[in-house]
Amino acid sequence: MFFIGIFGITQKEYDLDYEYSGVCEKCGEIYKYEVIVTYNCFHFFFIPIFKWGRKYYAHKMCCDEYYEINEETGKQIEKGNNVILNHTNMNRIYIN
Ligand SMILES: [Zn+2]
Repeated sequence: MFFIGIFGITQKEYDLDYEYSGVCEKCGEIYKYEVIVTYNCFHFFFIPIFKWGRKYYAHKMCCDEYYEINEETGKQIEKGNNVILNHTNMNRIYIN
């Protein structure tokens, strides 16, 4: 159809810098999180018009666990503030 490619919605993602690490209480290794932001983007002729539905995720590499970070904490990480991720600001998600 003609409109496909002119208007569109895509989901985008990128990594955030998150340097904090510590000792994993589960496996005893030094843990490190990969922090990812995803959002939806409405575009018109490849120009992003607006973005919504921002979500923040963390991947704990030692135990291969995924978490959804609450929005406020995610924003803090995005601003480069020093935030410690733990069970109070993120929830485990299960990916099969
Ligand atoms: Zn671990």
